[in-house]
Amino acid sequence: MIKKKEFYTQFGIICGILLVFAALLRSSNVYHVLNEIHIETYNYPENADFHVVTTDSVISSISKERIGKRLEGLSRIFHDGRFYNSEKGYKSSLYLYEKLQKVALADYERLSVELFNHSSWKQPSVIFRIQGKSDNLVIVGCHVDSINLNPLKEAPGVDDNLSGVDILLETIDVLIESNVNFSDWQNTVEFHFYAAEEMSSLGSRDVFGAYKKHGKRVAAMLQQDMTGFTKKTFENGMPEHFGLVVDYSSKQLMQFVRRIISEYTDIKSIDTKCNKVCSDQISPLIFGYPGAYVLESVIENSNPYIHTDQDLIDHIDVNHMVQHAKLVTAFVSELSVWIPKYLNESMQSDQDLFRFSLYDFFILFATSSTRRTIWCIILVAVAISMSVTLIGDIFSGENSETVDPDEVIPLRVSQNDNSNRKIK
Ligand SMILES: [Zn+2]
Repeated sequence: MIKKKEFYTQFGIICGILLVFAALLRSSNVYHVLNEIHIETYNYPENADFHVVTTDSVISSISKERIGKRLEGLSRIFHDGRFYNSEKGYKSSLYLYEKLQKVALADYERLSVELFNHSSWKQPSVIFRIQGKSDNLVIVGCHVDSINLNPLKEAPGVDDNLSGVDILLETIDVLIESNVNFSDWQNTVEFHFYAAEEMSSLGSRDVFGAYKKHGKRVAAMLQQDMTGFTKKTFENGMPEHFGLVVDYSSKQLMQFVRRIISEYTDIKSIDTKCNKVCSDQISPLIFGYPGAYVLESVIENSNPYIHTDQDLIDHIDVNHMVQHAKLVTAFVSELSVWIPKYLNESMQSDQDLFRFSLYDFFILFATSSTRRTIWCIILVAVAISMSVTLIGDIFSGENSETVDPDEVIPLRVSQNDNSNRKIK
């Protein structure tokens, strides 16, 4: 039997290791997703409240030709990839930043663009802002980075996600061209071009974490990630449609997006599920903000070439991207002039509660800090191996001095039978 003193020392070390492990888990900025998250709910406009004449006139400026040409240009410039922690990733964000700086010259009082730098990797996120009367934020997002699961090959990432970048740029162009009076806007609208989405949305998690920390009010966020692939939809005999992600979106905002789709686009949406954390709308959800995600089709029909060197412009249907541009333009047009109000507690139901799975937590945790994750794995491995050795020692009977297994794992012993109390 193991000596008592040795036992308590080893037991203490194991407890210490587990305490450090727990502290590491808690220190992560995603620890709270283990609990149910309360998503803020708002009085999103009903169809009857829509400003149909204004929004229709803005939508009419959307140009299929421009969307196609822009995508062609972007896919040529960034054909060899935009990996988040690479020079190419850095340059792709910088290119967008410089482009948008020129766009912002159209109204230097209302329009601005900033680089959002991330401390752990090279590629920054880019934020284009149209300042309204208040600092309440309406956000549309997309990601700039790309990835190939075979790191030896290029990651053109045209559908995933130059197609989303293109939709946001088209919306900005349309708003500026159609002479929208930004001084009438109640809310500030931001266009986010995130870094590092392919690493479980690291870039947008940074951005929304900072917004939460600074007490910013985000009234709505809509994500555009993969907007141009329809081939499988048609092959499967389905009509052209949007995929509306229903499992990783806030339900109330999703209902508003449904209303926008039915009012302002020419196609319908079909509900679809990611079944695990997917794309950047998870980031507002993590911090209690409303987020929704619409992609090119139901997940089953989406682009099978993503994350390979075949995610090329040849597979893109620009007509379908026009529908996404309509959706985003209408979303921005309607929410820019809306006055957001929190709904009363009494009006809130369980629909604004969101729960991530334990698997999601581990993915989010593991991607948030490699060093912390490696330490956690080492600590757990050491704790398990020490526990196994300790339990083995207790029951092996190799040593003569004693920790009674009954003291560690009490056995049922008759009060009169003391013979089993010490095992020598
Ligand atoms: Zn993507």
